[in-house]
Order: sequence, then C-alpha cells, then structure tokens
Amino acid sequence: MRPETEAELAAAVADATGPLAISGGGTRDGRAGGAAMPLSVAALSGVDLYEPGALTLVARAGTPLAEVEAVLAAEGQRLAFEPMDHRHLLGTAGEPTIGGVVAANVSGPRRIQAGACRDALIGVRFVDGRGDVIRNGGRVMKNVTGYDLVKLMAGSRGTLGVLSEVSFKVLPKPEAAATLVLHGLDDATAVQALSAALASPFEVSGAAHAPAGPGGAAETMLRIEGFAESVRYRAGRLQAVLAQFGDSHVETAPDAIAAIWRWVRDVEGFADAPGDVWRISVKPSDGPRVGAALGADGLLYDWGGGLVWARVAPGRDIRPDLTGIPGHATLVRASAETQAKIPMFQPEPGPLAAMAQALRAKFDPRNILNPGVMG
Ligand SMILES: Cc1cc2nc3c(=O)[nH]c(=O)nc-3n(C[C@H](O)[C@H](O)[C@H](O)COP(=O)(O)OP(=O)(O)OC[C@H]3O[C@@H](n4cnc5c(N)ncnc54)[C@H](O)[C@@H]3O)c2cc1C
Repeated sequence: MRPETEAELAAAVADATGPLAISGGGTRDGRAGGAAMPLSVAALSGVDLYEPGALTLVARAGTPLAEVEAVLAAEGQRLAFEPMDHRHLLGTAGEPTIGGVVAANVSGPRRIQAGACRDALIGVRFVDGRGDVIRNGGRVMKNVTGYDLVKLMAGSRGTLGVLSEVSFKVLPKPEAAATLVLHGLDDATAVQALSAALASPFEVSGAAHAPAGPGGAAETMLRIEGFAESVRYRAGRLQAVLAQFGDSHVETAPDAIAAIWRWVRDVEGFADAPGDVWRISVKPSDGPRVGAALGADGLLYDWGGGLVWARVAPGRDIRPDLTGIPGHATLVRASAETQAKIPMFQPEPGPLAAMAQALRAKFDPRNILNPGVMG
C-alpha cells in the first residue's frame, strides 16, 4: 500500500485486517516481516512549511532527507542533529526519509552539543493503530503542548503510530569549522582526552575516537564550529588543553572535515568489513570498558565515548559480556538467522517493558503496527 494523502493513510490503517510493515525509504532495518502487509509512506512527500526566520520546518514524513537538507542549505541552515545515513553500513538502497529519521531517532556526532533528533522535534502528526489522526506539538518552538507525545514518537519505530508529518526547529549553519586530530592514543587515554575537551569551555561539537581511524591508525577527533575567528581561537586553546595527550593536527579544510565526520557518523570503517555490528550506549567513562570487554574486530567511539560501535563475529550475543556495565546494546547489522536468535533491542527490565506494552496497547490495540520490531 502506498497512500498519497494522510486521509488515505488513515483509511489504510483503519481498514487493515492484519499486521502492517511500515516503511519510509526502506534504508533502515525494520523487522516487521513475515505476513505483514507493506505500507509505504514514501508518497507522503514534500516540505509543507519552511520559515527560515522562525527556524521552523514542517515536512511530510515521506520527504527524502536529502530534500529537507537541500531546502535548509539554500537558506544557510541545517538539521543540527546530523542524522546518520545507514545505507552504506547496512547495504540497503533507497532514499532515507525524514519520517524514518524520526521513527528511529537517528542522531549523529553533534548530539553531544546539539541534542538528538527528538530534541529538535517540535511537532508530529501520525495515524494510530485505530486509523485515527493525532496531532501533537506545534509548528513554533514556544508551543510545547503535548511535548511528551512528540518525544515518544521519536525512536518508537512505527510501533505507536505511522508518522505523516514532522516539525522541527532548525539552526543556522556555522561559518567555519576545525577538527583536531590526536594520533596513536589507546582507547582509555583517548576517552580521557575527549572528556578533557568536552569539559573545556570551547564548545566541542564532535568527539570521537577510532583505534583504526580514517587514516588506518588510531585517531582521536574533536570538532569545533562557529564564526571563523572564534573557531581559530578555540582550536588553539583546545590544542593547549590537549597538549598533555600529545601533539594534535588541526584540519581546517571544509571538505576534509566533512569527510572525517561523515566517516564517524556513518560508521564507514565497518561498511565493507564482515561481521555483525552493535551499537552500545553507555556512560562515556564506561566506553573503554566496553571496548576491553568485547575483544571486537572493530571499534569506534563517538559521543565522547558514550556511543560505542563494535564489529564482532557473526551470531555472537555480546550482551552477556557487558554484564555489570549499565547501558544498552542494539544489534544494528546481522544476518536474518542472527536477527531471529538475538533481539535487536536491549531487553528491558520488567516494569519498563510493562510500560512500553501498555503504551502499545493504548496506541495500537490491535497490535498491527510493526509488530515484533520492538518486542
Ligand atoms: C514503545 C517503545 C518500546 C521500546 N522498547 C525498547 C526496548 O525493548 N529496548 C530498548 O532498548 N529500547 C526500547 N525503546 C527505546 C528505544 O530503543 C530508543 O528510544 C531508540 O532506540 C532510540 O535510541 P536513542 O537514539 O535514544 O539511543 P541512545 O541515546 O543510544 O539510547 C539508547 C538507550 O540507552 C540508554 N542510554 C543512553 N545513554 C545512556 C547512558 N549514559 N547510560 C545508560 N544508558 C544510557 C537510553 O536511555 C536509551 O534507552 C522503546 C521505545 C518505545 C517508544
């Protein structure tokens, strides 16, 4: 099914007699397979409202992310949360949609400074499991009615409703950027360097470490953005703060900086390498413990160490190895057999699982929206 209007979408859900597998551009791994009827929102496309002066953008859920980014770029603005493109890592084709970005709460390296996708989301329209259209939040930043429902939809992966429209606050693109790179640090020292940088007043907007970085050897990467003069000053001061960890190289060429952070954002280092890929969310100071506990074939630390990407042998459940380290491990890339064996999302403790179940029962009483995708 490929409804072209929100009313058609509502009718499709209301008339459904069985499970629905919801897709936007189909570039991220949904798991409602089997007997589920495909429901694509790709035809619900277009930027409905963009007010650069009010830093507000409203788009239909099936709008390609690239279109949203192009519309914003034409006015010197952007989505601050730097959404990852999963295509290369997952080997998927198609066009990432803005609805898919919201449904999976896809947020990139800038999350440490600018927040996640859900933090920029100010309004949603969606169709619940009964086929009712629900509108929550507003098109202007100061309107925070229904705040919680907007936040709830971000990351709910289509299990509570089919998004038809999303509203964002957007931000101006900075004039300049710089990236400091430290070479040869071990993981624990690197995370100390990232913490020192993040604790400084120099407004770091990217803090990542790769034991095998874009150049092949260990690289610890820090980004600052803003007015050109401020970037120059802060880069120099940050180098002084980090001098205890060794000499750093400052990259200022925009293309090179964009390539580094795309490499981190899209986990490009794992894209053409074999094995399962896990995404582990922990306290930044626990990042190196995760790396040490796993004996992984590949590691990448983002968000100052709080987000660890690990590439491991196919079919291995890493969760038992992380016992005692509070956090969540999500299986992002694996074969269908492994996916059938190991849950994608961290199993939730009883009370939380009961809350999620109650929410699903409320929004989707017939359990037809992406069943099985999130437990
Ligand atoms: C109806 C419903 C059911 C859900 N069911 C599940 C489920 O079964 N399992 C599950 O894992 N999630 C579940 N979620 C939450 C969902 O997985 C996340 O919202 C989604 O994965 C988006 O992740 P994120 O970008 O917020 O990731 P992250 O920010 O990486 O967070 C992923 C998880 O890690 C936790 N986390 C983040 N930072 C830290 C830290 N420093 N220390 C410890 N923990 C941290 C977060 O609280 C979050 O739960 C559910 C959400 C809804 C709405």
